[in-house]
Order: sequence, then structure tokens, then C-alpha cells
Amino acid sequence: APAAEQRAAGGPAVSGYDLARVRAEFPILRETVRGKRLAYLDNAATTQKPESVLRAMDGYYRSSNANVHRAVHELAERATGLYEGARDRIARWFKASREEIVFTRGTTEAINLVARSFLAPRLQPGDEVLLTGMEHHSNIVPWQLAGAKTVAAPVNDAGELVFEEWLKRIGPRTRLISVVHVSNSLGTVNPVEDIVREARARGIPVLVDGAQAIAHLPVDFPALGADFYVCSAHKAYGPTGFGCLVAKREHLEAMPPWHGGGDMIRTVAFEGSTWNEVPYKFEAGTPDMAGAIGFAAALDWIESAGLQAIAAHEHALLEYATPRVAAVPGLRLVGTARNKGGILSFVMQGAHPHDIGSILDQEGVAIRTGHHCTMPLMERFAVPATARASLAAYNGEDDVDQLVAALHKVVRLFG
Ligand code: PLP
Repeated sequence: APAAEQRAAGGPAVSGYDLARVRAEFPILRETVRGKRLAYLDNAATTQKPESVLRAMDGYYRSSNANVHRAVHELAERATGLYEGARDRIARWFKASREEIVFTRGTTEAINLVARSFLAPRLQPGDEVLLTGMEHHSNIVPWQLAGAKTVAAPVNDAGELVFEEWLKRIGPRTRLISVVHVSNSLGTVNPVEDIVREARARGIPVLVDGAQAIAHLPVDFPALGADFYVCSAHKAYGPTGFGCLVAKREHLEAMPPWHGGGDMIRTVAFEGSTWNEVPYKFEAGTPDMAGAIGFAAALDWIESAGLQAIAAHEHALLEYATPRVAAVPGLRLVGTARNKGGILSFVMQGAHPHDIGSILDQEGVAIRTGHHCTMPLMERFAVPATARASLAAYNGEDDVDQLVAALHKVVRLFG
């Protein structure tokens, strides 16, 4: 098909990176949309899934499906083996131990777990959680629901955390520090090592929101030294509705369970119940076995493509895209951090982001428009919304060229 041939030609040529081969592994990229070649640039919202992930999940349902942990029959053994094997694989990704991996529905649920089970019991009225001005709503609202006062450190005009101001906001009422590793709206990579070091020096626990990081940066949980690290599989070529909380074992041991039900108990009596060991204490009910297996397969896929190679490719592509997008008349980039992942957020004179999104869609270019679940950040930049193009392993110069051509069409229609 012409679309597939065109796709094989996409750059840029980072040595050793076989873009055509990477693309061939993602069946959805052979789709056409609105009769056009698909340029999928909405990866910060969710990434597409390679054959190996689809096969792993399909294969699980075809030949191993049974409820885990509960029966002695062969299928239950297979299901349990695959599911717990996935936990080992995911633990290895973070260099954590398997007891430190709590499966959740994703980043959002993982933060809610920490807010409810770790933070809420230690809170006094007026206690604070220190955040940054670029947090996703899922790293703001759970702390507020737990009863904490949320304090945010400012972001400069480039979309970077103002570190000295962040430091000044650590106070006697700071019970927890939470920070996004890579901003989903701007692509800013935060200095999480420095943040963890300062927090630990003051004995304050730290959570890092890795939703936008794990598919692009290596995460060594023990070396980082954070207390909690959270992520979602679907932003790293895995399935939706699955993710994990990586937590120091001592915290998990001390934290009370938050959801009650099957699997999280040791004994149940009407007089009172006792809890299973970690991490099962936090995993009530029949889990998402296929989700865990799909996530493990996604991490295998990243490893086989090479995380460093993917990161280098995305970096080169961002360097290719940035001047071309910025040169579109009337377009202003929002977020120009020095240390930045593959995200381009922008606004255009005379065109609302939603209009930009609709015109791009007509040209086969999928991007995201809106506040990206970061309303305080939109407020900071005095925009109601931005248009956001975000890169992944399978994007190439052809996708960027298609984006830029479509942006010129927006200029013709609205400029
Ligand atoms: N944090 C960041 C930085 C994100 O980009 C997202 C995804 O939109 C989330 C948290 C929430 O992830 P999920 O919706 O998978 O729970």
C-alpha cells in the first residue's frame, strides 16, 4: 500500500535505529484516517501497541485464562505464573523487588492509593503537599481529597521548575513532595534526582509521577531514592487501565490497605480480618491479568528496540520538528525547556486549539488539544488550551512534515 511505503521512508537517521522495522510492528499505523496517511502524534495521551503486546494479551485469553491465586487446576497455575511473572519483569524494569510493585489501574489510581493509605493517616489540618505548577490533575486532586493543602512551586517562562522557589516552599507543614518526572503538557524533564536529594535531606517522602517518563527514560528506583514512583502501561506501548505503584517495601508494610475484598486478606471473620502480605494487601479483587501480561510484553518490546536508541531517535526528531513548527506564521511554542522530552505544545494566532485539531485531523494528523489535565499550568501561561504534538518510537520526519504542512493550512484558513 502507498501509505506503508511512504512510512518506511521516514527519518531521521539515528545510527542503528531501524525506524521502518519499528513501524512494521505497529499494525494500527497502516490505517488511513479521513482518507489520509495517519500521522499519529498523540502519544502523550496514549501510545499505540506493537504486535508482541497484542499477541501476549490475546494468547493469554486463548490458552491460559483462569482466575489467579485461587485454584489448583492447570489453567489457574498458568495464569498465576504469567501474572506473577509479569510482576517480576516489571520489578526488573525499575530495579525494584517484586514486593515493591503494586498493580493498579494506572498512574491515577496509584497516586490515590498513596494519598489515601500513606498520606491521609499522617495529616493534621493545615499540612501541605508540595507540588510544581506543571502537575497533572491526578497529582493534585488526590492530595486535596485526602485533606492536604496543595502548594505549588512556580514554573518559569520556558516551562521549567524554578528550583530555588521550590526549595523555599518546603516548610514545617510539608508532609509529602510530589513531582511529575516529565510534563505531559510541555515535555519538561524535571530534575527529580535533585528533588529527591533535597527532600530526603529533610526527611520528607517523595513521589515521582512517571506517566510520561518510563517509555523515554531509564528509571532506577533504588538509585533515584524516591519513596514512590507511579506509571501507566498505556503510555509505554502497553494496555490501557493498567499500571503500577513502585514503593519502598517499608512503606507498603506500614500502610493500611485501602480497598477491601478478595485476595487482599489473610483471614476474614465478622469480629475482624487480617491482611495478606505485600503487595497483595493492596490488590483487592480479581486483577487485570491480561493487563499485567501486556505491560510486561510492552517493557520487553522497549528493551528489544532499545530504550536509549528510542530516546536518541525521539530527541533527534524533536530537534527536527522544533524549528519547523516554530516557523509557522503566528505560532507560539509553549514550553521551551532546555531538558525536554518529545512534546511540542503550541498556540496559534486567530485559531483556537480545537480548530487546529480539527483541521489537522482532516489532514490525517492526530494531536491532542485542550488543557491536558493541567489547568493551573494553562493559567500560568494565560492560555485556555494548547495544541500538543507528542512523539514516540515509531514517528519520523514524514510525520513531522505532515504536521507542518497541515499547520500551514491552518494559517491559510485562519491566519
Ligand atoms: N500524570 C501524567 C503526567 C500524565 O500524563 C497522565 C496521563 O494523562 C497521568 C498522570 C494519568 O495517567 P492515567 O490516566 O493513565 O492514570
